[in-house]
Order: sequence, then C-alpha cells, then structure tokens
Amino acid sequence: MTAPPLDALPALLARSSALHSHLCPRQVLGARIGLRAARELDLSFPRTDKRVLVFVETDGCFADGVSVASGCWLGRRTMRLVDHGKVAATFVDLKTGRAVRIIPRTDLRARVRAGRGEQKRWDAYMAAYQTWPDDDLLTVTPVTLTVDLKALVSVAGKRAVCDACGEEIINEREVARGGRTLCRDCAGEAYWQPA
Ligand SMILES: [Zn+2]
Ligand SMILES: [Zn+2]
Repeated sequence: MTAPPLDALPALLARSSALHSHLCPRQVLGARIGLRAARELDLSFPRTDKRVLVFVETDGCFADGVSVASGCWLGRRTMRLVDHGKVAATFVDLKTGRAVRIIPRTDLRARVRAGRGEQKRWDAYMAAYQTWPDDDLLTVTPVTLTVDLKALVSVAGKRAVCDACGEEIINEREVARGGRTLCRDCAGEAYWQPA
C-alpha cells in the first residue's frame, strides 16, 4: 500500500476544530481512521454521496473527526451512533457490502507515553496521532455486519402514524403490535416519560 494521504490531514483538522473551537487528540484519531478507511475500501473520501455508511461507537470529538474525513454525517444519514463508549468506527461500502472496523491500537496510548520524554502527555498524543504511520496507530479488521442494512437505511419518503399517540414515524421505525401500528415509545421502548 502507498503512504497514507496525510497531506489531507491539516485541512480536515482545520474543519473539525472549527466545529469545536479546539483541536484534540480524538478529533485527530477520527480523521486518521477516516483516511485509513478510504484506503481500505478503495474509495475517495470525503464522500459527497451516500455510498458509505459509518457506525461510530462513541459521540463527541471523535465522531466529528470521522465525519470531516469521510464526508459521512448524522445529518446526511450516512453515520450511525452505536453508543458503546469506544473510540472505534466501522465503515461500510453499501455498493459492495465490504466493511472494515478501525480502532486505535489498544497499546497506543501506553506507547506514546513511554516515548514522550519531557513532552506533556496531551502534546505527545497530538504529535503522535498526527505523524505516526497507520500501522503504529491503528488496527484494521474486515468485518461483516450483523444488522439489517436495508432496514437501517430504509427508503426516503416512508411515513406512518402511531395509532396510540398520533405522532408521525419516518424511516420505517414503526412496529406492529396486535394489529396496531405503534411508535417505539408507545410500544414500550420510550427513553422518556411525562414529567
Ligand atoms: Zn475535543
Ligand atoms: Zn406513539
């Protein structure tokens, strides 16, 4: 494989940090992981179409780093949050079905700390994450998905109305219960209750 396209990194980090008014190690990791995913899937990033779907496993700065590099955003329906509290992302090429999960190496922070000398920890992370080669930084695993991608993506324009609360449901998120069409809240999966 050719050298990683790190020339793109400064511009991506400028975009990412503009969203946050700061730059931090997790944004850098997100951007590095996005750039690596492009190579793994042999696609050009950032995407302006909906060919790639990304599952990020935590929200926050990391997710924005992934978004600026990949062009996949929650607002474009090309990013999903699977909130497992991990700095990790899985990129799916919806055209070919190929998918790859990319994480920072589990020993990464320990190795950065071991070599940091007088440098402050935060500065050492920032420097390492921006300059170390992919192989020192990341672990890449080809995966197959256990979720139904078609159902997840759904079809634009699908609408239903909950028979219990009357609220509209898009993207086929309704459920059928005893001959009724219900939203997930009314079906017992609500994350809220009236105060
Ligand atoms: Zn941050
Ligand atoms: Zn309802």
